[in-house]
Amino acid sequence: MDISVVVPLYNEEESLPELAGWIAKVMDENKFSYEIIFIDDGSTDSSFHVIRQLSKQNPNIKAIRFSRNYGKSPALHKGFEKAEGDVVITMDADLQDSPDEIPELYRMITEDGYDLVSGWKKKRYDPLSKTIPTKLFNATARKVSGIKNLHDFNCGLKAYRKPVIKNIEVYGDMHRYIPYLAKNAGFSRIGEKEVRHQARKYGHTKFGLDRFVNGYLDLGTLWFQTKFGVKPMHIFGLLGSFMFFIGFVAVLTVIILKLVSLGSDTYHFYLTKSVYFYLSLASMIMGLQFFLTGFMGELIIRNSTERNVYKIAETL
Ligand code: UDP
Ligand code: MG
Repeated sequence: MDISVVVPLYNEEESLPELAGWIAKVMDENKFSYEIIFIDDGSTDSSFHVIRQLSKQNPNIKAIRFSRNYGKSPALHKGFEKAEGDVVITMDADLQDSPDEIPELYRMITEDGYDLVSGWKKKRYDPLSKTIPTKLFNATARKVSGIKNLHDFNCGLKAYRKPVIKNIEVYGDMHRYIPYLAKNAGFSRIGEKEVRHQARKYGHTKFGLDRFVNGYLDLGTLWFQTKFGVKPMHIFGLLGSFMFFIGFVAVLTVIILKLVSLGSDTYHFYLTKSVYFYLSLASMIMGLQFFLTGFMGELIIRNSTERNVYKIAETL
């Protein structure tokens, strides 16, 4: 099979017939063998009913329905598990992404040798409240991930070589960082294609402004996992040592000040009135806690099944 189109959706009943028809038209014109995998992420409208009707007309349409709304990442994860095509294309269900981009995306994967090609909505039809934070978000993501050539990390329209999606685990809200996940799994040929974007025709966006806060938090998590995920002591041990050193110097200062003040009648050094006293107390406690956090992390990793999961590209 040439192409799997994976479409996560949540309450998109109005768009689905047009989308399915459009994808099928592009596939037939280009003579691709394909499947469309709809993942209904717990819709409360008649989305799944619509999909069932569509699948009766087109045997290439497959679907999964979640029992409740889990989120876009879990939906993609399930779709990736099921996908069989050599090239896997993800696309939003709201008709903001155009199926006309599929042939060129397919060509870039199969001929230009990319592992992943991300769409870039250069000209966006979204409100300013979304486009401006998005620019900031992408700049940070580029910096943290080291993938310098991507303008639009979270574009719903993306194409992958099959091994990529079989070797990454999209969970939580990590769909925003799939290129970063792919890079961490060793798939570093990451490209970009300018794509046409349209305003939402039906319904409304399913994400609020909290997407940006959550996005940044997730980026922090990913960065941390990438750098220290299997060696937490390297960071906590360092922080702990640093704090402990400050505490130690402060204690020394306190002792010296006390000793010096002992012989003087006019100046007597009161321990609890000194900033060094509190500094040493706080620093040593924090240092100890960093150390303990590091040890706890190491212990957890020792018992975790994730610790030795390596992505194997080939075996002979
Ligand atoms: N979506 C989903 N589960 C959710 C939220 C969104 O499957 O919990 C789907 C949604 O139906 C759409 C895609 O993810 O197909 C992108 O969502 P949306 O268009 O609301 O995001 P935006 O374009 O505003 O970034
Ligand atoms: Mg949308």
